[in-house]
Amino acid sequence: MHLTLEDFFRREYLFAGLLAMIVTAMAACGLVGKTLSTGGEQKLKHHEPTPLAAPRVIIFALDGAGYDQLMAAIGSGKAPNMASVLGKDEGNGLYQHAYSTPKALSVLPSSTIANWSSIFTGQPPAWNGVTGDEWFERRTMGFYAPVPVSVEDTTDLTKVVDDDLVGRALTTPTLYAQIPGRSNVSLLSVYKGATLYTTVAPTSLVGMIAGLLAGKAQGESAEKSLSADIDLDSVPKLLDAIGEHGIPNLQVVYFPGIDIYTHEAKDPLRSEVDYLEKVKDKGVGEVLDLYRKDNALDGTYVMFIADHGHIPVMNDHLHALAATGKDTPFELVRQQGFRVRKPTVEVTTSDDDFQAVLAYQGFMAYIYLADRSTCAAPGQKCDWSRPARLQQDVMPIARAFDEANRNGAGVPGLKGSIDLIFARAPAVPGQIAKEYQIYDQGQLVPIYQYLMAHPRPDLIDLDQRMRWLSAGPHGDRAGDILLLSKASMSLPISERYYFCEVPHYSMHGSAEWQDGHVPLILAQVGGSGVKMQALVEKIAGDAPSEKMVTPIVRALFQK
Ligand SMILES: [Zn+2]
Repeated sequence: MHLTLEDFFRREYLFAGLLAMIVTAMAACGLVGKTLSTGGEQKLKHHEPTPLAAPRVIIFALDGAGYDQLMAAIGSGKAPNMASVLGKDEGNGLYQHAYSTPKALSVLPSSTIANWSSIFTGQPPAWNGVTGDEWFERRTMGFYAPVPVSVEDTTDLTKVVDDDLVGRALTTPTLYAQIPGRSNVSLLSVYKGATLYTTVAPTSLVGMIAGLLAGKAQGESAEKSLSADIDLDSVPKLLDAIGEHGIPNLQVVYFPGIDIYTHEAKDPLRSEVDYLEKVKDKGVGEVLDLYRKDNALDGTYVMFIADHGHIPVMNDHLHALAATGKDTPFELVRQQGFRVRKPTVEVTTSDDDFQAVLAYQGFMAYIYLADRSTCAAPGQKCDWSRPARLQQDVMPIARAFDEANRNGAGVPGLKGSIDLIFARAPAVPGQIAKEYQIYDQGQLVPIYQYLMAHPRPDLIDLDQRMRWLSAGPHGDRAGDILLLSKASMSLPISERYYFCEVPHYSMHGSAEWQDGHVPLILAQVGGSGVKMQALVEKIAGDAPSEKMVTPIVRALFQK
């Protein structure tokens, strides 16, 4: 099959995303100085903060590294750099120099942008304003896709790098603004408030694409993959920045490659461990070596964290519920008489009379509905600053998905694909939104009440995590209806479905243990694991989550 460059960008949203970051680095030269033409740095603060003598903290942010996969890599003997930071395994998460929280959870959806936002603000999505890889903002009628899932273009991924899209959407301060001293961020989408932001070099874009396609065709190994190129290319840039400005108090080292590699690997979970051992550990070692060379490694706090894990899925169009075509959730909403927004980042004014918007998150999808009484006639723009009406707008769509799921009514491809349908009485945008409830036989039932009647131990801490996503001043950014597709690891792979324009070998975004159970490791080089455990447990209590990363780091600065 012949693929043009354009086809490639359409089909490979994740790969394309990273490549777009590279292109963006080229386009952003004028804005951020000539160093970006070869990859480089962007100063984010006008006044340089005074460096503090202590503490020094390195956060290795490993995108898509599930808890079991990372711990398997560390314990295998094939990831010596990470393993040496932790020291001897003393059981139950305690290591000689580290504590690995055994039960830390992601926020929902267990996907990239929502989780990094939560990790680096310490606030849940309904409060920090970033609710997913894609979302719709009612008051501005803006659609955002920093990681494109339903849409086909990478416009917003470009804006993540050169226009701080995620930082602009956040309504609560980042960790960098909550600590004194200098903080450098390498590659991560959440960098607002940091001192310095470093990115990869735009090396031979075309060559990389050719290599990627060839690699896919030949089942390329972890260390030779494009993901590895990007991960490892980012390290010299952050090391250069340290060479020029000295060691910062906080260094965030983001590795996006694991997520991309796992999505595309035929045996995703085993391949992820392989990638962590062969690629990630090398990158970690290079950063640690520089600190060691500068006599700055001893006493440095090191964290290993991730945003989500992965669940294996069928890599085909029957299981990837797309945005385009007839057998899709978009089509079902259309059949209920709603004018549905096209799956693109921007729409023209001739298409802005939409009455429904869908945003995809992998195992979850959000549906935003207008009060249709404000825009009954085609061509009439809806008043999105008003909430939809529960009985006239929301319930008919919830009912339609319930029926399609039961018997394939309207859209046969949806039959048996949905696990739970959530809905609620919509709030006025900007006011505290109510938490989601579960649609059960024509009624909306509180989540805890539904779970008492229908226990679901596979959906971990569902009630609280759905409240984090939906109940708050920006809870309306998670839609008026939320679909959770069947994702359970206890189901055969052929019964798992996901909302995504492009099929993959693994997906995330659910409330399952497998994609929501994340590593949260705090170590001090040469320090005491018992002390790390005490510090983490004091903050996280018996319900650790990714939201604890920001308060944990703040505590390191207060010691
Ligand atoms: Zn991710």
